[in-house]
Amino acid sequence: MISAVRRLLTRRPAWERRGHFRKGQQVLTHRGAPVTETVVWVKDGKVGMSHNGLMTVWTEAAEVRHAHGCRPCLDDLNAQLTTHAEEQHTYWNQWPRDARDAHEKAMDDMVHGSDRTHSFGPNTRIPAWMRAEFDGRMHPSTSPSLALGRLWDPLDWPRICREHPDFVLEPAWQDDLNTDALVAAYQLLRDRRFDPYLDVDLEMELRPVPEAPAAITASAVVTRLAVEQQLDPDTYDEVVRLLGDASTHPSSSLCYPMLPDGPGEDRTQPYTVSANTETVWGW
Ligand SMILES: [Zn+2]
Repeated sequence: MISAVRRLLTRRPAWERRGHFRKGQQVLTHRGAPVTETVVWVKDGKVGMSHNGLMTVWTEAAEVRHAHGCRPCLDDLNAQLTTHAEEQHTYWNQWPRDARDAHEKAMDDMVHGSDRTHSFGPNTRIPAWMRAEFDGRMHPSTSPSLALGRLWDPLDWPRICREHPDFVLEPAWQDDLNTDALVAAYQLLRDRRFDPYLDVDLEMELRPVPEAPAAITASAVVTRLAVEQQLDPDTYDEVVRLLGDASTHPSSSLCYPMLPDGPGEDRTQPYTVSANTETVWGW
């Protein structure tokens, strides 16, 4: 009896058992996958697949499920979808319903330009200065939040912060980097005639004004301070000093000479400083 229970508990799922997948069968590699793949080989717990015969990829059998005709695989796919839906529901519920509704309305109202930027729409009640500063500069944001857009133009952030003391500009993850330090570093770079920019997600907030409950405002969540230039050592050191402990992960994209007879980088050649070099601090 005990050994039967143990056998049941340790029984591997159908898709991990030998011989479960066969050449020519239609499979999916994850829940909600938009396309099915065709099994082209099975070997040592791995499954090779091709899509329309174009290319072959392989993955562990544990990651593969039959697209149809197999009860254990279909039950598991459905369970994955349910879990995913529950996770999504829980995740988005961290924002109140009225905030989510206001965000949806603001996004529906956005006016889209031909250069993939967008501007606040005519029915969106947002501070006028935000229209003046951000219209035509917002790009689609990939942040899973109530982001209104992503900004990476070299804006005059120190002036914006000075003129609008209530406006919140803060790094995304770093507690030991404050806004003053970030703005000071940005100003220093501008003073030294560099063109820094911040990579910012403009996060929507409901404005807590009783007479205008649908009005929104936004704060800026900064993920990167970047300069598309190589900094001289003095400036670099001063920025690091201003950013303090938060500057522990700077990166400088390395620049290699281009291949002489075509595009691409010649990584056999040593790294060289060039106009393409970028200096970045990320949070
Ligand atoms: Zn199956």
